[in-house]
Amino acid sequence: MTETIAALATPPGRGAISIVRVSGPDALAIAARVARLGRPLRPRVATLAEILAPDGARLDEALVLYFPGPRSYTGEDVVEFHVHGSPAVVRDTLTSLLSAGARLAEAGEFTRRAFENGRLDLTAVEGLADLIAAETPAQRRLAFRQLKGLIGNRAEAWRGRLIEALALVEARIDFSDEADVPEDLLGLALYAAQQLRDEIAGVLADGCRGERLRDGLVVAIAGLPNAGKSTLLNRLARREAAIVSPYAGTTRDVIEVHLDLDGYPVTLLDTAGIRDSAEPVEQEGVRRGRERAAAADLVLWVIDGSAGGVAADKYPKNLGNAAIWLVQNKIDRVDATPCMVAGKCDNSEYEFTLSISALTGAGMEALTAALSNYAKTYFASTESAVITRARHRRALEETVAALDRALARDRTNDEELIAEELRAAATTLGRLTGRVDVEDILDVIFRDFCIGK
Ligand code: GDP
Repeated sequence: MTETIAALATPPGRGAISIVRVSGPDALAIAARVARLGRPLRPRVATLAEILAPDGARLDEALVLYFPGPRSYTGEDVVEFHVHGSPAVVRDTLTSLLSAGARLAEAGEFTRRAFENGRLDLTAVEGLADLIAAETPAQRRLAFRQLKGLIGNRAEAWRGRLIEALALVEARIDFSDEADVPEDLLGLALYAAQQLRDEIAGVLADGCRGERLRDGLVVAIAGLPNAGKSTLLNRLARREAAIVSPYAGTTRDVIEVHLDLDGYPVTLLDTAGIRDSAEPVEQEGVRRGRERAAAADLVLWVIDGSAGGVAADKYPKNLGNAAIWLVQNKIDRVDATPCMVAGKCDNSEYEFTLSISALTGAGMEALTAALSNYAKTYFASTESAVITRARHRRALEETVAALDRALARDRTNDEELIAEELRAAATTLGRLTGRVDVEDILDVIFRDFCIGK
């Protein structure tokens, strides 16, 4: 027996309207108990109603919408109450619904029902989660395309073709003794498998663009203590995200700021001053700083360009494979000379060199423009990305591996084994969309949703 669930679907707090959603077999009956309707509810038509407290007192006037299953979000009967956006009204409406027979929904339960009733496949559920979490237009576009079946439809089509190929192999096995079976069923099947394999491998060879767009471009600000990293971060983020202090070594941990750079997501990291320190707390900060910088896509290596600055400004070589830009800071100081001119540094290892003053803002426009440009190039081809998660990538890699094994088998003796590999490939694809045994991953995916979604 499925229970009927209820929850607030809009963010908590005050607003013009709050939507309380009810889904399940008793949704309509519960609505009739809780709402005094001007006229009977009609599918997908707004109806004005008085919402009643359990003792029958009026508690609000609301619009009520009825979406009969299976053509609703969850696939079940759904009733929405558009009440006034007041925490008290919402709380009391929910109390009424619970005493009328509903139970409070768990996080992600509406969407889970939508999945279980075949309204959304797993990749669409993930796309929906990404859409809700999207911070920039590019992320929103990718998430929306995924919600609409960008990878789910493709995976289902691939699975369909695989099952056809598998059927050919099985026909060949079952009827091999009969005269009227075309000789080359196996050849046809393997040809289809080869094509599928190449197609999926093509989608995999995307340089992880979708995942990168989902996670954002990571730019680490690194350099020796007191070079001006925190000041630069604050200026880029236009707020006091990191503590700026004239004493060396105060940024003990990694500070992270999310930016929208011309529509693209950029995560800025202020890594603790990279230097050898005896102090344990600082050592830990330095270790984390190194670790994060090593995983960054781009490192801004900030140096103090004033005469008092440290001359040994070489970038530590063991910090990963990120592109590195040399940012000479403090050019507002009278004793500042571009470090290359002063012979204080060798810039041949850097992709790009800039001079700025994080304090006055001089040169910041050029730096921001360069970063925007970099992000644009970095994300240039994300519009064609299909894979957005490691889970998808793993599933497709396993599919290709199974197809490779099928293709490597001996055609005359290994028909059974070829069928087995094709079946394995189809199962992996099925897991991607949630068509095949996925209980274990469901909890992980739905856990990220809020209650009411
Ligand atoms: P961090 O240790 O690299 O994070 O360096 P901070 O951002 O904490 O800066 C260290 C000191 O340098 C602070 O006193 C800042 O005010 C100062 N500073 C940072 N940028 C500039 C700059 O462009 N010009 C000048 N004159 N001072 C700066």
